Amino acid sequence: MQNQPSNIDLHVHTTASDGELTPVQLVAKAADSGVSVLAVTDHDSVSALSDAGRACAELGVSLISGVEVSSRWNNMDIHVVGLGLNAGDQRFLDRLQSQMNRRSERAQVMGQKLAKLGYPGLMEQAAMKAPQGIPARPHFAEALVEAGACKDRKQAFQRYLAQSKPAYVKTDWPEISEAVRWIREAGGIAVLAHPGRYKLTRTKLERLIKAFAESGGQALEVSVSTHGPEMVQQLADLALKYDLYASQGSDYHGPSMRWVQLGKMPALPSTCRPVLDLLEQRAR
Ligand code: AMP
Ligand code: MN
Ligand code: MN
Ligand code: MN
Repeated sequence: MQNQPSNIDLHVHTTASDGELTPVQLVAKAADSGVSVLAVTDHDSVSALSDAGRACAELGVSLISGVEVSSRWNNMDIHVVGLGLNAGDQRFLDRLQSQMNRRSERAQVMGQKLAKLGYPGLMEQAAMKAPQGIPARPHFAEALVEAGACKDRKQAFQRYLAQSKPAYVKTDWPEISEAVRWIREAGGIAVLAHPGRYKLTRTKLERLIKAFAESGGQALEVSVSTHGPEMVQQLADLALKYDLYASQGSDYHGPSMRWVQLGKMPALPSTCRPVLDLLEQRAR
């Protein structure tokens, strides 16, 4: 079950978070790649959606409003994608603002930790690359590479930025159940993002999915560009067991990560109920 081209991609990033392409560039690339249904899902931000919406209308791509909310579960950072939400919902926008405040504080502390490790001024470097001057970890990774501290961004995560590494800062993200509630209260569908990327044992993965379902979560990202065939099958089985819809997305961040391509991911197993069905049902 290799990655294959699909016309549906429900997880991608732009320069409104840690992606490399502007919303307009991203949508043009989606249209070029044969993607006709696209959800833009920036980390804790919906600010790409208006530009993306205009570009999609011009190019005949159907845009689903999206977001990827940072949350905590069991002392780990877990991401919850929201699909089809009302991006103008003021209470939701206030909640995203609280996330950006957490990001801003976290970035300050990360900058201080990196300074102590011998790399002063990285906060400022990273901030120049970031939307609203609030850097995410990939912006710090880029700054570390430019400072000659690491050969590439992957190494920057492995040495400094990943959980339990010296520049990692634990962030007081909302609990996963709260992230689900925020998305649902804004009229969205809550989707557990890339469950195969949290490096969990089978037992823990199932516990996460059970907790997510019990919190009102509605779908799992079964088909993700970085999920291998066994993971896809395991997640398809768990989606069935916990009565969850299945989503598919590349988690595309831009051309420099050559192993992730827009619109490419494993096919959804036939036992899955596609989350698009749920989106369409609600639209009727
Ligand atoms: P943040 O939201 O600031 O915590 O940054 C998380 C983002 O960093 C993820 O969405 C990925 O884009 C990127 N990321 C996380 N872990 C790694 C890793 N090990 N290597 C490269 N990029 C990573
Ligand atoms: Mn990211
Ligand atoms: Mn994510
Ligand atoms: Mn993502």
